[in-house]
Amino acid sequence: MIPVTKPFLPPFEEYNELLKGIWQRNWLTNNGPLVNQLESLLAEYLQVKHLLFLGNGTIALQIAIKALDLKGEIITTPFSYVATTSSIVWEGCNPIFADIHEGTLNIDPQQIESKITNKTTAILATHCFGNPCDINAIQKIADKHGIKVIYDGAHCFGTKYQERSVFNYGDITTASFHATKVFHSTEGGAVFTSDPSLLKRMSYMRNFGHDGPDRFNGVGINGKNSEFHAAMGLCNLKYINDILKRRKEQCDHYDRLLSSQHTIRKQQLTPDIEYNYSYYPVIFESEEMMYGVKRNLENSGIFPRRYFYPSLSQLDYIDLGRNDVSETISARILCLPLYDELTSDKQELIADILMRALR
Ligand SMILES: *Cc1c(COP(=O)(O)O)cnc(C)c1O
Repeated sequence: MIPVTKPFLPPFEEYNELLKGIWQRNWLTNNGPLVNQLESLLAEYLQVKHLLFLGNGTIALQIAIKALDLKGEIITTPFSYVATTSSIVWEGCNPIFADIHEGTLNIDPQQIESKITNKTTAILATHCFGNPCDINAIQKIADKHGIKVIYDGAHCFGTKYQERSVFNYGDITTASFHATKVFHSTEGGAVFTSDPSLLKRMSYMRNFGHDGPDRFNGVGINGKNSEFHAAMGLCNLKYINDILKRRKEQCDHYDRLLSSQHTIRKQQLTPDIEYNYSYYPVIFESEEMMYGVKRNLENSGIFPRRYFYPSLSQLDYIDLGRNDVSETISARILCLPLYDELTSDKQELIADILMRALR
């Protein structure tokens, strides 16, 4: 069986070593030493000023929306994982979709402009598959209308935009360190901001608002993460450069194998970036061709995924009309298997089946 992804696991002994320390200290969660160490090593690795390590990437989005005190309408992308939209609804705001650009698969700044009303308070955009949005254009729109920007950077670990980590942009960027992501801590997430007062507010929020044992600074939630998760993150961080390098080699290999296939296309990467090769999406000319390939791969025990399907504009708890580009791409896209252990033989098998299905 070849799944779309498999979590990276560090050598067991290395994780076990950190567990011994947890046992010795008997300190399992609540801002423990491993959490602190992971935060500072991540800040150093990513060259960012501040971050908070959180329970997951969804609570990161919720805390970001809450910390900016957003109300009313938030303009967002219909082409992302469901958590991007559901977090907006969960926080009592209305998601307003601006369609995506059919090349980059990111929210189209021109579409954003046309969706702004006097109720708009923010833009929540996903750097889709780790490919940065048109950050300069989005910031210009936000500045012009006095609204906030949050980036869902769940796919972006290791991606740079204009030579800096993409986590540096917007009022807040969120990340997910879920087991399926390029860098993971089993479950986990983070918020990044360069604004110290916003950081302070979010750090109260992640711990119920506690300001000491019996004082509270505003409403909070349980958004923190444990020593066990931090331990996994610390182990994996040692291997991240190897993981990113291997992803690039694997994606280059797929590119070579599929180069003669002119009926499929790839996501168009944004200029002036360093990409993390977190996913390998392929877009087919029709939904029928996508189904043909999917069926043939599945018959051989290979399981690509329809990321992202359905388009979030088709969620039944919101009723916001159509987003043609997002919906047509959703129907025709597959992410091919991509994980550290995936061998070139298996990639060749996958490419072979895909090409034969299209013949
Ligand atoms: C994975 C993901 C999330 C959610 O992160 P969790 O850590 O699983 O809560 C949010 N947005 C996007 C785009 C994702 O891919």
